[in-house]
Amino acid sequence: LFITFEGGEGAGKSTQIRLLQARLMALGLSVVVTREPGGSPAAEALRHVLLSGAAEPFGVEMEAILFAAARNDHVETRVRPALLRGDIVLCDRFMDSSRVYQGATGNLQPAFIEELQRLAVNGVMPDLTIILDLPAKAGLARAQRRAGDAGENTPDRFEKEELATHERRREAFLAIAKAEPHRCRVVNAEAEVGQIEENIFQLLQPLLIG
Ligand code: C5P
Repeated sequence: LFITFEGGEGAGKSTQIRLLQARLMALGLSVVVTREPGGSPAAEALRHVLLSGAAEPFGVEMEAILFAAARNDHVETRVRPALLRGDIVLCDRFMDSSRVYQGATGNLQPAFIEELQRLAVNGVMPDLTIILDLPAKAGLARAQRRAGDAGENTPDRFEKEELATHERRREAFLAIAKAEPHRCRVVNAEAEVGQIEENIFQLLQPLLIG
């Protein structure tokens, strides 16, 4: 089972992944938790290049290609082997983040992004994608609080963008959910943490039984 988590800044993806991991492990299931960009040594190296802003001078096409390269390495060295072993893979961001960040708000043609995703995932598609949805303003406030708590005074460059951009990303995630209702489920990320956890677990139930 391959489950991906998507959503804007401060949506609570990593918290929910941790809670779900604990719950699945308590059932005796093997769970692999991973994230993108990153999740494998080569992809983590690219993550550093991408999130530090070092790739910015290269232009948006090359940046999108680097995200795709990281994804392909992560899929082939980590995700596919885990799925072949029968593990449940929980991944923090996947191809929908590229559609949204590099596509919807990155000024790249959808056809270019789609082709990159096709090559990057190489047939490894999520069985379920949880989209954690909340207003951009609420998400940004949370992300800023978290950065403050972590003692960061320079949030990464993506988090410095304006509110309207974050709202467009929210709409783009919702559009993906609408276009692929069999794969995607939207979860209200403004609810209480325990309630969100329960809602996500309910969405997984049919897959765990099937
Ligand atoms: O998951 P997290 O929010 O920590 O992601 C790290 C950063 O990478 C985010 O700020 C997001 O804006 C950015 N990102 C991106 N394109 C992707 C995946 C992540 O711009 N395809």
